[in-house]
Amino acid sequence: MSKSVGVDLCEGSRFSALDEHKGRVRGIVLDEGRSLAADVVIMAVGAWMPYLLPFTKNFFRATGHAVFHLKPRQRELFEPEQFPVFGADLSSTGFYGFPLSREGVVKIARHGPGREMPPDSSKRFVTPDEERAMREFLAETFPALADAPVVYSRICFYCDTHDGDFWIACDPERAGLVVASGDSGHGFKFAPVLGELIADVVEGKKHPLLEKFRWRPEVQPGGKKEAARFLPAKS
Ligand SMILES: Cc1cc2nc3c(=O)[nH]c(=O)nc-3n(C[C@H](O)[C@H](O)[C@H](O)COP(=O)(O)OP(=O)(O)OC[C@H]3O[C@@H](n4cnc5c(N)ncnc54)[C@H](O)[C@@H]3O)c2cc1C
Repeated sequence: MSKSVGVDLCEGSRFSALDEHKGRVRGIVLDEGRSLAADVVIMAVGAWMPYLLPFTKNFFRATGHAVFHLKPRQRELFEPEQFPVFGADLSSTGFYGFPLSREGVVKIARHGPGREMPPDSSKRFVTPDEERAMREFLAETFPALADAPVVYSRICFYCDTHDGDFWIACDPERAGLVVASGDSGHGFKFAPVLGELIADVVEGKKHPLLEKFRWRPEVQPGGKKEAARFLPAKS
């Protein structure tokens, strides 16, 4: 789709550094050493942001969240007809899940504190504690699923801001740089509207939401918006 409107994709290349000169970002450098010149650079690298642009480490935290695929013993109980998509109490657990997929698995994950780590971390695997917490939740809620074998699990990432709101703004200290990130676990559902908001920032247009997503280094950790994101690790 983007190619058909003239977007030139550098597939397989990775961002390595900003090409900065006297407080102005005039492009990027790719990992193979090639430079790409640009009037404006939009960095939208999700949870990689605090690692690719270390000066944003005070604003963003990359957190890993466990996802489980379970094979229920009584699969008929988890068919979509009788087992809906669910979201447990966000103020106490944050677990959510989906009915039986075509592959015969039930997917369970948790909108919780997560674990801070770089997305390319060697620790990117589900821990026994995370599995235990999931099984404790299932034992209380869906006992028929509590001992189902895990057939697949992974760690997936959020880029958290301190207040849980997106970050879509020009860098006041680096002309030519726009940072668009801070999904805090909510970016997918807003994907259809984010492009326009980012374009408004690039073009310097006003938009009522952009005050909320402004460049806000003054916001400190502790603004507890979603209780489940701040539960103690054990529960
Ligand atoms: C378990 C889980 C469940 C979720 N469920 C929901 C949900 O139900 N609803 C919802 O709205 N959101 C949900 N989310 C959040 C959603 O996935 C994110 O908000 C969204 O993916 C963030 O989009 P992004 O473009 O900011 O980052 P990403 O989707 O992470 O994209 C960042 C991109 O940057 C690329 N990149 C990294 N480093 C480089 C580099 N050096 N050079 C070039 N490219 C690079 C990566 O390969 C990646 O493609 C969930 C997230 C998780 C982890």
